[in-house]
Amino acid sequence: MLDAALARCLALSQAARTQQGAALAATLAELEHALAAVAEARAAEQASAAAVAAQAGAGWPDDGGEAALELDLAGYITAWNTGAERLFGYPAQEAVGQNILFLYTEDDDGALAELLYEQDGGLAEVRRRRKSGEVIWVQLALSLLQDDMGEPQGMRVRMAHVSEPLSDADKISLHARIIEDSEQGVLITDASERIVSINSAFTRITGYTPGESLGKTPDLLRSGVHDAEFRAKVRAAMAGNGPWRGEIVGRRKNGELFPQSVTISAVRDSEGKISHTFSLFSDISVHKDAEARMQRMANYDTLTGLPNQCLMTQLMTQALTEARRSNEHGALLVVEIGRLGAISDTLGHDVGNELLGAVGKLFRTVLRDADILARLDGNRFGVALLHIEKREHAAIVAQKLASALAAPIQLATHSLQVGASIGIAVYPEDGLETTALIRHADVATSKAAQAEAAFLFYSEEMNQRAKEHLRIESELRLALQHGQLQLYYQPKVSLRSGRIVGAEALLRWRHPVRGLVSPGVFIPVAEESGLIQEVGNWVLEEACRQVRAWKDANLIMPPIAVNLSARQFDRSLPARMAEVLRRHQVHPEQIMLEITESLLVRGAENVVAIMNELVAMGLALALDDFGTGYSSLAYLKKFPISTLKIDRSFVVGLPYEENDCAIARAIVTMAQQLRQEIVAEGVETAEQMSFLRELGCDQLQGYLFSQPVPADDFERMLREGKRLAFGVR
Ligand code: C2E
Ligand code: MG
Ligand code: MG
Repeated sequence: MLDAALARCLALSQAARTQQGAALAATLAELEHALAAVAEARAAEQASAAAVAAQAGAGWPDDGGEAALELDLAGYITAWNTGAERLFGYPAQEAVGQNILFLYTEDDDGALAELLYEQDGGLAEVRRRRKSGEVIWVQLALSLLQDDMGEPQGMRVRMAHVSEPLSDADKISLHARIIEDSEQGVLITDASERIVSINSAFTRITGYTPGESLGKTPDLLRSGVHDAEFRAKVRAAMAGNGPWRGEIVGRRKNGELFPQSVTISAVRDSEGKISHTFSLFSDISVHKDAEARMQRMANYDTLTGLPNQCLMTQLMTQALTEARRSNEHGALLVVEIGRLGAISDTLGHDVGNELLGAVGKLFRTVLRDADILARLDGNRFGVALLHIEKREHAAIVAQKLASALAAPIQLATHSLQVGASIGIAVYPEDGLETTALIRHADVATSKAAQAEAAFLFYSEEMNQRAKEHLRIESELRLALQHGQLQLYYQPKVSLRSGRIVGAEALLRWRHPVRGLVSPGVFIPVAEESGLIQEVGNWVLEEACRQVRAWKDANLIMPPIAVNLSARQFDRSLPARMAEVLRRHQVHPEQIMLEITESLLVRGAENVVAIMNELVAMGLALALDDFGTGYSSLAYLKKFPISTLKIDRSFVVGLPYEENDCAIARAIVTMAQQLRQEIVAEGVETAEQMSFLRELGCDQLQGYLFSQPVPADDFERMLREGKRLAFGVR
């Protein structure tokens, strides 16, 4: 700024000397004003300029090596410093007294005067000639010199040697060199996506030489890791929708994958059409490795390689947020390994550590993939079961972990027996914060250790339930062996004729002490413990035996429905069914299978295949408890189901509950469209019956007609031709 003002001043002073009259006066006034503005800032410089002027001809104090000279108003050199001498090769005695023009190149004659008028900012780059004849580029900074009265005296010119501005050709070759020497890989493609240029970093990173890559497309580096959508995005960038920056996994010539940080942009020609695209990329595998290592160190236990408490807490916290939304259950188990201290003390810490590692591995094998196993600290492991259907399931997992330690653990040099105390906290009941759950599970762990129990829940209620669960399981095994199970039959009646058109076989347990136990109590336990296979086989066997017996007694029997647990529904089911039917000489049409929606939701292709096989054999399928699960029309259409059973919970409110009426109506309409028979479960009143009948429901099953009864009673009903009365009672 200052230099600009000075240059302007000098220009004005020259103008002042050549102009006349009023114009001159105005110009001088303006000059005075401009000079006042810079006078202050230049005070120090003027002082030194005065000293320098005194030494004119004798050289110039070396101003940090800077070249400088002074001119009088006619352009004659009055001072010349050693920097100027170095720059131009003329000593002061040769330069002082010469007109500045002697430094000009031939084609620069008179350029200074023009420069003074035109240049803005006091800086200019000009060509000058050295004593040697060599032409150089010099940057000039000009400042005005004044006498004591403020009259312009001359000008100081500071000079610095600058490199010559680049020619276009030089620019191109320089850019090419920069690209070639760049640390980043460069890939340039033409409009048809053929590689037209690469640099040496490209070859270093990818392994492909120019010969192997030019003319190919960038697919040369494709790793196959990214999906089509990702590639489309990158392609869009290549097609010119703006530069794309991101990380891509590429493949080197040796087949190795590598992460790269990439920028892809398009180059357009003068008409705006894309002529080329260029990608700049760097290999970030080193950073990635370091990142992954840091991530591991922060989240994983170095001894066992398992997640640490920090990671488990993060995962739990996420799951808890979801659980709050979806009302799901989960559990946190804290497993304390016993005897570890004693082992470390006697056999050394290395053995203790090795043992912990082995326990971690063992636990991992008994858990499902979705369960989180973490090492919390010392001898404590944490197990998070993020989604469990029932809280009791946590006890099954605890039991599995405890059983895993039943046998001694084989290490390289020792065979060691350890035990575990397991504490269980369940959510949401025992807390909705991870820290609270860990605290509560810890409390339960200590109690389990004291009580020498394999596991304990935090809540007493859960302990009771778990105990009950175990008791039922062991007693149910005995029930199977001792013939305590029995089938009851509940008739299904037609809402058109009132006649019995079927029956559902319902399992009963005659417990020697507790009397008749409801399947609602023991079927879930059987399902969880795996006993359901045995129980289910017994039911099929017994139902077929009974059907055969009725047939032998010449009774005309409607189809008997048997409930199937989802666990029974596997590939071997059709063969097992065929075998039982064959053994009892029962016609498949005599048996209907009731399945629940949870089976459909599992939705695996083989479920449909198994169903089709069963139907092809002549068995009919009914969907039980319809409306309580994830009922969806889409599911229903996919499966070969002939009968829908409306769940009792929708029947209870008929005909007074508006919602229940709407649901029942919708289910009936839908089933009619799918040409499925509809059975209403749990019909207890004549009003419910009338309503369902008017809706167009086909059959009814419920206390209104009959409770489930032993086989003999059902047989009697059939023989007597018991019918449903339609009149309102
Ligand atoms: P489900 O298959 O839905 O059976 C209908 C249940 O409703 C039966 O209970 C039946 O006694 C009851 N019920 C029928 N009519 C009425 C009524 O008018 N009012 C009321 N309040 N209840 C009625 P149950 O026999 O206790 O069976 C309960 C569940 O146990 C069954 O529900 C079924 O899911 C399961 N189950 C029963 N037997 C077996 C079996 O052999 N195998 C399998 N896997 N599960 C079975
Ligand atoms: Mg049923
Ligand atoms: Mg049902």
